[in-house]
Amino acid sequence: MKINRALAALPAGYLFQEVNHRVQQYLAENPEAKLLRLGIGDVTLPLPAAVCRAFSEAALEMGTPEGFRGYGPDYGYDFLIDAIRAHDYAPRGVKIDQDEVFISDGAKSDVGALQELFAPDAIIAVTDPVYPVYVDSNAMAGRLGQYENERWSRAVYLPCTAENGFVPQMPDAPVDVLYLCSPNNPTGTALTRSQLSGIVDWALRRDVLIVFDAAYKGFIRDQDVPMSIYEIPGAEKCAVECCSFSKTAGFTGVRCAYTVIPKTVQYEGDSLNRLWKRRQSTKLNGVSYPVQRAAAAVYTDEGWQQVQSNLDYYLGNARVILEGLRQAGYEAFGGVNSPYVWMRTPAGTPSWDFFDTLLRRAQVVCTPGAGFGPAGEGYLRLTAFNTRDNTRQAVERILKLL
Ligand SMILES: *Cc1c(COP(=O)(O)O)cnc(C)c1O
Repeated sequence: MKINRALAALPAGYLFQEVNHRVQQYLAENPEAKLLRLGIGDVTLPLPAAVCRAFSEAALEMGTPEGFRGYGPDYGYDFLIDAIRAHDYAPRGVKIDQDEVFISDGAKSDVGALQELFAPDAIIAVTDPVYPVYVDSNAMAGRLGQYENERWSRAVYLPCTAENGFVPQMPDAPVDVLYLCSPNNPTGTALTRSQLSGIVDWALRRDVLIVFDAAYKGFIRDQDVPMSIYEIPGAEKCAVECCSFSKTAGFTGVRCAYTVIPKTVQYEGDSLNRLWKRRQSTKLNGVSYPVQRAAAAVYTDEGWQQVQSNLDYYLGNARVILEGLRQAGYEAFGGVNSPYVWMRTPAGTPSWDFFDTLLRRAQVVCTPGAGFGPAGEGYLRLTAFNTRDNTRQAVERILKLL
């Protein structure tokens, strides 16, 4: 049997492994240390009560003759699809048909699988630093060439740094697909309406597909930051959008997400909506009924209020981090429409070195920016998913370093 050489050649995903390794080593030497973790990339608040109620009621329904359900619709139940259209799109003036929404078990699955719709030699562009799934899923399919000096030879990297305000400069080189994440993981920055318009216009001119990852849209509080790429005219012809209940509603352990593919997204005379339907009906048998009921409860008045209060809590933590760092004279970005703050290390210190400084001198754990791509060097990611108390303490400790 011949193995997938492209998959075998992938570099080990070593970022969080290495973070863990350094933390464990420090704890072994300093067993008394009380570490404060601002590297957490997962939600921490419990599920809203309205969501749990719908979740358990639906599970009990399955135990009755009238309520039992076997395989659901491949693309999701209408009650959830309609709730999404009515609450996430209609109020923003975006008209999405029922058969343009695809329910799934996660945005990671969708964003990783979308590359199955592209030609084997399609050219992929990503922002740098980047959520690794976009790159790795294309590399596994053998689309990215050789890996050398932290880069794939056939991928196009678009650096996003403080110098360009974390807005990628669109390349002149040929590109078929651009992966875009806003609000961004890891930088915590979000594209404004006019910045996103510029990118959509570029994609339309070049016949490029945008894969838009909106996993953090629930954190947007700025009127000038679109929650959906379809708020930008023309995006319905050049973009697919991946959304998730994970970060917005605490579903990282429950698993529910959705991808929108308008029928107007057409390349070489074929519709991506048709191709994705064909792909999903072959590889997915839907998402469980109780999970979809739980997700639909996010859109009830009670569920929505509870979800917003959780999001406000995380955003409050992000503000504590952002303002604390800035007061101390650090350069810090993001953290306004996002649970992530991206800070520049002082005096160009390499990000792994400053990670060690924070660990050893402040007992604060963060994530080194270099782990997200070459342009992440010189930055750190701090997250808002700890408690308010721990967040405040962590910031105080960082300030005392000075
Ligand atoms: C967390 C995250 C997701 C969400 O993935 P799920 O599979 O829905 O939990 C998607 N994209 C980015 C950039 C993320 O950080």
